[in-house]
Amino acid sequence: MAKFECSCGHIIRDQTDALPYKATFIPDEDDEVSFTETINRIAEFIQAKELGRRDAFLQKIFGEAYLRDLDDLSILWDLVSYLDTFRRFIFECENCGRIWIQKHKELDHNIYASYWPESDVRGVLKSQRM
Ligand SMILES: [Zn+2]
Repeated sequence: MAKFECSCGHIIRDQTDALPYKATFIPDEDDEVSFTETINRIAEFIQAKELGRRDAFLQKIFGEAYLRDLDDLSILWDLVSYLDTFRRFIFECENCGRIWIQKHKELDHNIYASYWPESDVRGVLKSQRM
């Protein structure tokens, strides 16, 4: 989703990284399976490498077209990106504070539900890193 219009008229843009008004979430029902499957894939990759079956593993997980000459770090990123299949988005309107939660993430069919804040607390999706 590149951008959408909040009910207040503000345009919420999703056209760059590290947005202070955007977050992702993994539903609690998917939390364990998503992380378990990701860790299992990483463990399987390590084992395949040790057994000299790296290419067979990459073909099995990513298909024939996957680049086999990628470095291990790139492959690990691709394996971790499996979590993206479970993630959905949350946006906070910077104008009115309304929260938009993605209900479905099918291609070309995003459905968002909006929630109106009961307090003046804003910036709830900002990073809390110091
Ligand atoms: Zn708004």
